[in-house]
Amino acid sequence: MLEENEALRRILDAVTPAPAESVGLVAALGRFMASDHFATMAQPPFDNSSMDGYALHAVDCGRAPWTVRVTGEQPAGPDRGLTVIAGECARIFTGAPLPAGTAAVLMQEDAEANTEEGTITIHEAAEPGEFIRRRGGDLCEGQLILRAGDRVTPQRIAVLAGQGIARLECGRVPRVTVLTTGDELVPAGAPLTAAGQIHNSNGPMLAALFAQAGAEATMEHAPDDLEILTETIRRAAEISDFLVLAGGVSVGDHDFVKPALARLGAEPEFWRVRLKPGKPFLFTRAGKTLVFGLPGNPASALVTAVLFALPAVRRFAGAAHGPECGPVRIPAAVAVPLSNPGDRPHYFRGRFEFASAVFSPVGRQESHAVFGLSQSNALLRLEAGEAVEAGEVRAAVLY
Ligand code: AMP
Ligand code: MG
Repeated sequence: MLEENEALRRILDAVTPAPAESVGLVAALGRFMASDHFATMAQPPFDNSSMDGYALHAVDCGRAPWTVRVTGEQPAGPDRGLTVIAGECARIFTGAPLPAGTAAVLMQEDAEANTEEGTITIHEAAEPGEFIRRRGGDLCEGQLILRAGDRVTPQRIAVLAGQGIARLECGRVPRVTVLTTGDELVPAGAPLTAAGQIHNSNGPMLAALFAQAGAEATMEHAPDDLEILTETIRRAAEISDFLVLAGGVSVGDHDFVKPALARLGAEPEFWRVRLKPGKPFLFTRAGKTLVFGLPGNPASALVTAVLFALPAVRRFAGAAHGPECGPVRIPAAVAVPLSNPGDRPHYFRGRFEFASAVFSPVGRQESHAVFGLSQSNALLRLEAGEAVEAGEVRAAVLY
């Protein structure tokens, strides 16, 4: 049985990032940048005022009370080509280019305007350089702004837009097909018509999980029938970058995922990971399509999808190795004593409170239980045989 780390390494090694495509800046939100970006212009691009006030000459700095004549006005916008000299100032506004000769901006609260005389009286002396944002003070030409593999976020969009960039080269949106299996499953929206049936939770849960990660996710379902399952896998693999099978991956007489994949020549690259829940997890390839076989119990499906499938999908989309790929781990203090008497690492489902960085397990920890799962936003791993006291810190995986 593989260890979790080794399983993830083998999966990520198998991923070839998608070719890049050009995307509108806002539409690129959540995608990953295909190339490094260097500033082509300084920010700010010109010296400007950080206040509404008055542009003063050096001679008029450091003096109060002091009167100077107002000889012009420079709002934010086109540079009016003003100049200030000793004894004269210009009315100026936030973001406006500085008139030639400006040594400081006096904020308007520190002066009184004498409108009749066309002068101001300075109450608080201005320091040279005050309230001036210098060209290049934020970033300079040639500076590395963002790296290939960085996720596009609103704040990164701001710095790119500031460079005049309207389109970005980003990794293509991954196409993920979630293929659930099982004779007992009925899609939500259709009635249960026989005892023994249940609604299909994994299909929508997993489709939503991959959609949230920026993939285009579609749902398929196949009964526990080798012929139909094989055919459904074959069709889905043709149109998908990732095929995520859920259920039917164990060794029961009605678990047809492995035999169906075998018929398509897709022997497992590995099957079974030393993990609870999620032991029967399977990974293989069908042609260029990466195939994950997740156990059918919803908690097992979620845990293995978060630990193995999402990082692969993000990597394919162009995410850099490490935090951009996930899983994101963060230190968490456990709220209550927890123990794992089993012989495999156990991922507890629970709530991570951001304010206190405390993890509390929620609900039943059996892999079929979806109520606790619905209240959870994190997983906490305990090693085989490990016990922790309340307050001890372990890494939690967020999702
Ligand atoms: P399997 O992995 O197919 O043996 O399924 C293990 C358990 O998960 C069984 O109790 C199944 O009924 C349940 N299960 C499998 N697939 C789903 C699904 N898509 N939605 C909800 N429960 C499922
Ligand atoms: Mg099944």
